[in-house]
Amino acid sequence: MTEKPVVLVTGGSRGIGAAICRSAARAGWLVVVNYATNAAAAEAVVADIVNAGGEAIAVVGDVAQPGDIEAMFATIDSTYGRLDGLVNNAGIVGSPQRIDEMDFARIDRMLRVNVTGSILCAGEAVRRMSKSRGGNGGVIVNISSMAALLGSAGQYVDYAAAKGAIDTFTIGLAREVAIEGIRVNAVRPGVIDTEIHASGGLPTRARDMAPSIPMQRPGEAQEVADAVLYLLSPSASYVTGAILNVSGGR
Ligand code: NAP
Repeated sequence: MTEKPVVLVTGGSRGIGAAICRSAARAGWLVVVNYATNAAAAEAVVADIVNAGGEAIAVVGDVAQPGDIEAMFATIDSTYGRLDGLVNNAGIVGSPQRIDEMDFARIDRMLRVNVTGSILCAGEAVRRMSKSRGGNGGVIVNISSMAALLGSAGQYVDYAAAKGAIDTFTIGLAREVAIEGIRVNAVRPGVIDTEIHASGGLPTRARDMAPSIPMQRPGEAQEVADAVLYLLSPSASYVTGAILNVSGGR
């Protein structure tokens, strides 16, 4: 078993996840960088971490596929023999659509990646972390969104509903496993300057939204990562079931 605490960051290859991976490595975590398709981006994050004196590996896996999740956790077991942290960060938006334009395939994919994947990963993590199952405890951070509170009307109400589910899941799971030495919290980013907006067909969304944000600017991925690192850290030892807005006042 490795000496360092091990954290899995889903969707760790780009955007907010990549910033979380780099920050976690600086804080002394051994980082498992999950990605779905873009191996080069994941390997670039690993290289950055290793070049800075940290430890990391990249692990492929679509969090919407139960078999991929099982394989990912099996790799962590065989490589490191421990898991201390999970950041459920992998997430997708869709192109802006009203509800009357959405089809089953879109909604199904939205919920599978953003909700089912996070719940399945949390289950695998709890099986390894729970003190009642012989583990040493641990910490889970879920990445929600301010969309959970605002609803994303006219853009992606399915995404907002998925993030609402993440909020509720965070509260319930925190209470369920608190006595087993596992803390569970969430961060709700506001509008953050990453490639997710381009993936939804709105490449300038972060900039365009600036006037509607009380701080008059989109956030940086690092500003979300800083909040996640706090929740991962012993400084948050009495914090569980909390959902922290990182949204510039939005
Ligand atoms: P991003 O720049 O689009 O990066 C998404 C990351 O998730 C990539 O590493 C991608 O890997 C991975 N990913 C996507 N689908 C996956 C899947 N099925 N299985 C595993 N990994 C998958 O997104 P981001 O802006 O950093 O968003 C990260 C999280 O923050 C998401 O949960 C998002 O909903 C949330 N959030 C973002 C904002 C914002 O304004 N950016 C606001 C609120 C909440 P590949 O490149 O390999 O596909």
